[in-house]
Amino acid sequence: MKTEKVNRVVLVGTGAVGCSYAYSLINQGVAEELVLIDVNEARAEGEAMDLNHGMPFAPSPMKVWSGNYQDCSNADIVVIAAGLAQKPGETRLELVEKNTIIFKQIVKNIMESGFNGIFLVATNPVDIMTYVTWKESGLPKERVIGSGTVLDSARLRFALGKYFNVDPRNVHAAIIGEHGDTELPVWSHAMIGIEHIDTVLKRKGDLEKECLHDIFVNVRDAAYQIIERKGATYYGIGMSLVRITKAILNNENSILTVSAYLNGEYGHNDVYIGVPVKINRSGIQEIVEVELNEKEKEQFNHSVEVLKGTMQLVI
Ligand code: NAD
Repeated sequence: MKTEKVNRVVLVGTGAVGCSYAYSLINQGVAEELVLIDVNEARAEGEAMDLNHGMPFAPSPMKVWSGNYQDCSNADIVVIAAGLAQKPGETRLELVEKNTIIFKQIVKNIMESGFNGIFLVATNPVDIMTYVTWKESGLPKERVIGSGTVLDSARLRFALGKYFNVDPRNVHAAIIGEHGDTELPVWSHAMIGIEHIDTVLKRKGDLEKECLHDIFVNVRDAAYQIIERKGATYYGIGMSLVRITKAILNNENSILTVSAYLNGEYGHNDVYIGVPVKINRSGIQEIVEVELNEKEKEQFNHSVEVLKGTMQLVI
């Protein structure tokens, strides 16, 4: 009898981000098995119980349990959303130092299980944590992926959809660079439906393009605005992580702006940063090198410099 391949996802870190991912994964029926791991074992257990109780209403069956690092041995994807968030008065650098220590231990535990799948990292600062995961795991760069600017690009598409009164799924626009303050919009390639954004703006009579600046600033600062109101952001990133998971497990060849290792692409080396890539079952199949204009190139180079500067202090 033929045994069907069962897709297993292991989630490390069952906090707000991790559980939003788990909830969304179940509701979209993406994998057959989901293992929850957290340093707070009781929390992982409670989340597994709660999620399982929704299973009669899920689109397809999924086995969910709270497990341990041994469960990573035959996992297809390990998603890491574990770690600390910035505390008031704490610098970004202090956070990087603490999360780097946490990550080294987590990745060591995962690799000791014999894991040979794909890492998907969400913990901030995500570009640096993805680099740490790649370095510590020894896995090929194609199989270590950060959520990068997938969420930021989704925020941009949502905001443009609202401005032009168009379904955000018909908006093709991206944010690249660091997932953070130095990220940038790639206006030179933004499309509304099948038209370039400049054409649509001209028709609207909006020649100054001031709206674009405001839209971008709101997208870049969205996390601050949400944290100010509700303390954390988690639904958007949860759904973004599911989108990436689907692209991998369904071998989609989807183009998404994840955090990927640059090896000469965009004129840079030895850095993980948000760029458009083609994703399939093998992980990052190809980095898409779009032609940036001079301003975008300058902004991207600056973003790389800032990331490398922070990275030097912890790696
Ligand atoms: P949270 O505090 O709710 O959850 C973190 C979880 O990690 C907790 O359950 C904690 O017990 C667990 N944990 C801590 N150390 C661990 C260890 N050594 N092993 C296993 N589990 C451990 O935080 P959150 O709101 O879920 O955020 C998680 C991370 O995601 C943060 O770094 C946050 O900044 C980041 N984040 C990223 C994005 C993005 O776009 N990439 C968006 C939002 C949040």
